[in-house]
Amino acid sequence: MAAPTVALVAHDAKKADIVDWARTHAGALQPFTIVATGTTGGRLADEAGLTVDRLLSGPLGGDAQLGAMIAERRLDALIFFIDPLSALPHDVDVKSLLRLAILYDTPLAVNRASADAILAGLARDKT
Ligand code: PGA
Repeated sequence: MAAPTVALVAHDAKKADIVDWARTHAGALQPFTIVATGTTGGRLADEAGLTVDRLLSGPLGGDAQLGAMIAERRLDALIFFIDPLSALPHDVDVKSLLRLAILYDTPLAVNRASADAILAGLARDKT
């Protein structure tokens, strides 16, 4: 069976957080195929040493690409560190991505605590 595919995305104010989270969990993330929006993915590769399939930057269509992956059942979990304190120009894309994750019952984490829970669940399912 193919390794589950996990998407990692973080808004700008949360990018340092997701890099730190990914570093902390590098071993647990290793068996999964990781996809990420462009800028998040670049930082995860450079600063956390992850192997990442990079999509477009979120505001330039990366969020929409992830939404399409969900609709096509090609994404097993979405970890999306959302900035709760800023208005974002691509809010419609963010909403669309979250809506599709809800619609397709895709495991979804929007902060560190829920990301920990999803990763623990994925690791459990794998064994
Ligand atoms: P980015 O996109 O990783 O390319 O910055 C994240 C986002 O959706 O804002």
